[in-house]
Amino acid sequence: MTAAGQPGECEERVIERLLVVVAHGDDETLGAGATLARLSDEGVSIGLCVLTHDDGSRHADDRGTDRGEAILNAARLLGIQEVNVHRFRDNRLDEVGQLELNRVVERQMRRFAPDTVFTSALADLNNDHRLVGLAARIAARPGRSGVHEVRSFEIRSSTDWAEASGIRPAFSPNCWHVVSEAHLDRKLSALRAYGAEREQWPQPRSEEGVRALAAYRGSQVAVPLAEAFEVARQVVGWRA
Ligand SMILES: [Zn+2]
Repeated sequence: MTAAGQPGECEERVIERLLVVVAHGDDETLGAGATLARLSDEGVSIGLCVLTHDDGSRHADDRGTDRGEAILNAARLLGIQEVNVHRFRDNRLDEVGQLELNRVVERQMRRFAPDTVFTSALADLNNDHRLVGLAARIAARPGRSGVHEVRSFEIRSSTDWAEASGIRPAFSPNCWHVVSEAHLDRKLSALRAYGAEREQWPQPRSEEGVRALAAYRGSQVAVPLAEAFEVARQVVGWRA
């Protein structure tokens, strides 16, 4: 490895600065909450960029509840150190336009300087998730950022619904991050911070549904619990 802080070859891929880019507060928890808890325990600096601030699409009059406080509470439980919540409206990111979203995420990326980005999958039935997943990939493109790894995660319900609605290719993990019961408990605590987002079994966002997915993803690779990811890009052996 070269001298600390100097660009050059490095021997292994270690996450030091992780930026999580999501459309809605709770996406980060549903998608990677237990992994974030584990990574924060391991000393990774984690930032969170949330593009919308409310849940307006759930209400007929469009006047949603501001999620700012819930986002901060969930972030604290997961060990996320830096949180930025933008003021775009829930499920209306298509009105903002892709270019503006790209610019907002690019600014965030320049400021936080992550080596790794987690974001939503493109195989997702929620339009905001797809737009933000694309914006994060564009902002983190090679040669325009110091990002060496981009991963996407599954968000219970909307990623499930994509598969159940014939969206192909479906979410197809190639990375399993092993987590402990304690990390999963912190994910469930963070999910509770979002209150209204909790559902009853057999809904996918119920606590049982979240536990079932962690157990299923773990059993795919013969471990007790895991969260699954699609690694879009991973560059090994170079420090920007
Ligand atoms: Zn969402």
